Amino acid sequence: MSKKFDCIVVGAGPAGSMAAKTLAKNNLKVLLLEKHPEIGVPLCCAEAISCSGLSNFVSPDPEWICARIHKLLLVSPSNESLSLHHPQAGFVLNRRIFDKRLAEKASSLGASVKLSSCVVGLLRSKREEGFCGVKVLEAGEEKEYGAKVIIGADGVESLVARWAGIDTTRGLRQIDSCAQYLLRGVKVEPDRMEFYLGESLAPGGYAWVFPKGANTANVGLAVTPDKTSKKAKDLLDQFVKKRFSDFQIAELTMGGVPCYQRKQRLVEKNVLLVGDAGRLVDSLSGAGIANALLSGKIAGEVVSQFIKQKRRSFSFLKGYEERFLKEKGRELRFYSYCRAVFLKMTDKDFDEVTCFLKGYWGDQTVTAIQPIDLIKTIIRSNPRLLRLLKYLVW
Ligand SMILES: Cc1cc2nc3c(=O)[nH]c(=O)nc-3n(C[C@H](O)[C@H](O)[C@H](O)COP(=O)(O)OP(=O)(O)OC[C@H]3O[C@@H](n4cnc5c(N)ncnc54)[C@H](O)[C@@H]3O)c2cc1C
Repeated sequence: MSKKFDCIVVGAGPAGSMAAKTLAKNNLKVLLLEKHPEIGVPLCCAEAISCSGLSNFVSPDPEWICARIHKLLLVSPSNESLSLHHPQAGFVLNRRIFDKRLAEKASSLGASVKLSSCVVGLLRSKREEGFCGVKVLEAGEEKEYGAKVIIGADGVESLVARWAGIDTTRGLRQIDSCAQYLLRGVKVEPDRMEFYLGESLAPGGYAWVFPKGANTANVGLAVTPDKTSKKAKDLLDQFVKKRFSDFQIAELTMGGVPCYQRKQRLVEKNVLLVGDAGRLVDSLSGAGIANALLSGKIAGEVVSQFIKQKRRSFSFLKGYEERFLKEKGRELRFYSYCRAVFLKMTDKDFDEVTCFLKGYWGDQTVTAIQPIDLIKTIIRSNPRLLRLLKYLVW
């Protein structure tokens, strides 16, 4: 394999593979590096994505769709429940297959994909400013690969960001700590997602049950560490025992979800951050797959133009940040404001919101939910929530 590339992408999650696929489609010489021997393993994700979040990038394939979601259930602390029929709600993926197929697509378009290749540092350019490649460990051996541009798609624990000098650290209020079981032998509705709220059930977060085919589900719980000293795993155990009479634990995974922050930089010299590495996550729900795909695609397009047009100034690459934020910035900022209100909500608030939504939707079938408009309506409906808006100044 040649050691010089137009672009090196670090990490073969959805963000990295989408970036590599876009670059390869534009006939660029691209190297996608993944530290694990198998793409999609290990994985810490509840694997849910909205219809539009997925279909904007790839056509749904039965091979990696575990469930099509038509119903949503929200359960409040005092057991008020809201059932919603929403035929276009979304999917639960099998990301072990989904992530592999995406990387294979990049490879079939010409990207070089290397597994068991852990990036351990960036190489500084001697003649120009910026970076000229990466240092990797492969089977205990140190190697170097050169590139004109580097894309950091190395997830929540991104080191590329740090090496490039981009601060992506988050405080205890701006990261969720999650635990999740893959449960088998459980009774769940195969097309319904369940969400559970409560100050003691999941402080600063929520619990979820996402079906994954016959009697199988991703069952998890997220907490905000600043709101509790309890571990997500212990709270998850309590939740699982309460929700299910019969279950077998097939897998346990734990991980963190970072929050988006208004002033997060995504580009430094010739290094771009995509997906979780850039903290491009919905701070309210913790969802990041769709933003990973979108940011990977936009980064791939901007880098392709940069190389094809033989641009020299790295400021051209800032076009990635501008384009991404133009499309998603308002939404990401809105969710991070909502999170500030959410963290102040009490069990009484959760009960009231659930009751409000029951009245708001009644028994009708919902064809589309506009989250921003809906959240604004919820907040306006409740004087206490309106008062919580003062916490938006943080
Ligand atoms: C418990 C939990 C549940 C979640 N549920 C959902 C959900 O239901 N829906 C949703 O949309 N989002 C969910 N998320 C968030 C979602 O998983 C992430 O937003 C998404 O995976 C981000 O994709 P990515 O490509 O940026 O990063 P990742 O998927 O994390 O991929 C990063 C890749 O980089 C590789 N890598 C890291 N460092 C290096 C290195 N030095 N060298 C080479 N390779 C490296 C990793 O091995 C990995 O393959 C959840 C997160 C958690 C923790």
